[in-house]
Amino acid sequence: MHFGQLRTYGEGTRPAVVEVNSEGLCVKFNLWSSTKNIGGRNIRIIVAESIFVRRDVSLNLAENNTMPINLCDSIIGEMTGKKSVDILRRVFHYENFRGKQEEAIDSICRRQNTVLVMPTGGGKSICYAVPALMEQKIVVVIFPLLALLLDQVERMKSRGLNVCFLMNDMDDMERQSVIHKLHFNPPEYNCLFLTPETVLSSSVFDLISKLSADNLINFFVIDEAHCVDTWGFHFRPSYSELWRLGTLGCPLLAMTGIVTSRTLETIIKNLKLSNDTTVIKQVCNRPNLFYHVVDKTSNGCDKIVSIVQESFSGQCGIIYCIERRDTAEVAYHIQKAGLNAVFFHAAMDVHAKQATVESWKAGIAHIICATVAFGMGIDKSNVKFVIHYSIPKDFESYVQESGRAGRDGSEAHCFILFRFEDRTKHMRNICSLPDSDRKDVSLQGLNDVVKYCITPFCRRKQIVHYFDNNDHSGDECQRTCDICASDEFVQPVD
Ligand SMILES: [Zn+2]
Repeated sequence: MHFGQLRTYGEGTRPAVVEVNSEGLCVKFNLWSSTKNIGGRNIRIIVAESIFVRRDVSLNLAENNTMPINLCDSIIGEMTGKKSVDILRRVFHYENFRGKQEEAIDSICRRQNTVLVMPTGGGKSICYAVPALMEQKIVVVIFPLLALLLDQVERMKSRGLNVCFLMNDMDDMERQSVIHKLHFNPPEYNCLFLTPETVLSSSVFDLISKLSADNLINFFVIDEAHCVDTWGFHFRPSYSELWRLGTLGCPLLAMTGIVTSRTLETIIKNLKLSNDTTVIKQVCNRPNLFYHVVDKTSNGCDKIVSIVQESFSGQCGIIYCIERRDTAEVAYHIQKAGLNAVFFHAAMDVHAKQATVESWKAGIAHIICATVAFGMGIDKSNVKFVIHYSIPKDFESYVQESGRAGRDGSEAHCFILFRFEDRTKHMRNICSLPDSDRKDVSLQGLNDVVKYCITPFCRRKQIVHYFDNNDHSGDECQRTCDICASDEFVQPVD
């Protein structure tokens, strides 16, 4: 039996499996067959598709060191306490859930539409990866960028999850094999990863509809859901069609970094989420981050050099620039002063980009001077400082970009080099926006950041209140911003 040109090698709908065991490591191969016409003769080709199984997961699971490709049965069979907590500990090796993770998991497991607002580094992927192992159904995950998607697929595979993806320019055999296996009941895959454009293409949407009608889909995840905001900087036209997933009868988990209440409303409205949608908002207060605003004098590079030399010698950091040419210039100036820096921007050659990122990730280069194109999906825990060479364009961006510091929970510092003239760099972009509503929203966003820089009130309080007026988690700054730490200033009571 087959669904495409690729046939299973073996009987029935499932391919035969060859298993190779050695030294506590188990690798399995699915066998497929296909016929190819070579030189006028039909040749039968056997394809062995390898599935790597992580060593420590398989060791934990069973005495004979083997593990079924789908983790559900074996793990759940041995569980004692709450399912989600046991999976978190045994598969992801975290002791407890952080922030709002558990609340989000409980909500989606109750089959509620859920919007999860969580700051960068809050551990959003756990919120769908854990439920994906709780039920033998497929979680369909929409990721905005292919590079991020492939990264995430690798990360999930390394945890032992059986995940797959479909994309447009994919080897036909691989595609057929994935599609074939997606029809298995019960499913073998825990997650299917897609870009918004792929899921909306008629063939894949038909496939998803069929799987959902056959009750094979657990729920849908829309990552970076703020891309649905037509006024936002990150707007992606295909996101505005993703509401169609909601018509397939499975719950939807929309995830986003910290956003304002206006963006949050837009996400709910544009995804056409029902009135009983659960909104879970994690506060954006990060107690381990220290906030500073520094006057930018001359070209700002001397300031950077003195900050780094005084407090962050030999440590990893990011310097964000607005313009591409600034990245190279800043890197050049601070290199001359003896700092170990590289630069990164979107227009660089793809190999140079990769080499730069790798050397920074490995700690060979300490400092990366980059445009804001850098950082999305990059997971480096020991970033000790983030310096904005010029003011960020709005608060959402600032919280996201500065939030890349201190992901390991240890003390880290965020600086903005401020001078009023840098505002004009953003003004040029804002003026080129096509419609006046977007101009107004962007201008307001920029003015809010300027206000943050020039107002002598606690920076932490300003950041937290900006996103939620009722959130008082940042009220106890404990001298973790330059204003509160300064002895001359007496904090006004409000
Ligand atoms: Zn403060």
